[in-house]
Amino acid sequence: MKQIILPDGRELCYELTRKRVKNINFYVKDEDVVMVSAPSGVSVKFIEQCLAKRANFFFGAFEKIRARKAAQTKSTEGVKWLGKELPIKIIENSRETAVFDENECRVFTRDIGTENVQNLIRAAKIERFKALCAELNEQVRAELKARGSEPPPVVIKIKEMKSRWGSCSYASGNISINLRLADYPRETVLSVFWHEYAHFRYHDHSDRFYRFLLNLYPDYYKHNNVLKTG
Ligand SMILES: [Zn+2]
Repeated sequence: MKQIILPDGRELCYELTRKRVKNINFYVKDEDVVMVSAPSGVSVKFIEQCLAKRANFFFGAFEKIRARKAAQTKSTEGVKWLGKELPIKIIENSRETAVFDENECRVFTRDIGTENVQNLIRAAKIERFKALCAELNEQVRAELKARGSEPPPVVIKIKEMKSRWGSCSYASGNISINLRLADYPRETVLSVFWHEYAHFRYHDHSDRFYRFLLNLYPDYYKHNNVLKTG
């Protein structure tokens, strides 16, 4: 990295790469450096003159990048996912999608406005949560089968509910799971699955219901109680 001092005292940093190109190319990649590619025949002195001439343009571009970064961190602090708060990383390209992994949520978009970013994250979260619920449902069913009891056919519905984490219509075989559970740890979501499956046996919240549930999932209280405080 090199820098030039402009007549007014400002410093302009640039990085020069020699390439087999016809012209000198300038590219502002980050908030404080201009990337320059130039053919080998062009002198550093001439390149620096060109940079100085365009200095105001480059400083304007730096300012835009800084403002954009500040807006991003303000509008999108993090996304809750399975008991963690994942930082959001915005990558400007045309894919228009959000991807979750263990450590971060990456949003690929050309429109970095808060509303669009939040919509992409929400859509990705719903998809991920649906897949997780399908997986947990299979886990519970497999464990029930291993214990010798054939689970009833069920349809899992993901809904945003105000007052309940899950519900079970044992007559129709519908289990509804609250989308808000996506904010909580995986084991907590699993505890709701066991709770709803236990309702196929006992339709109330009696002592025998909880005895039966604890037999199926001994850590029930440990993982389910976080829903009472949060
Ligand atoms: Zn219940």
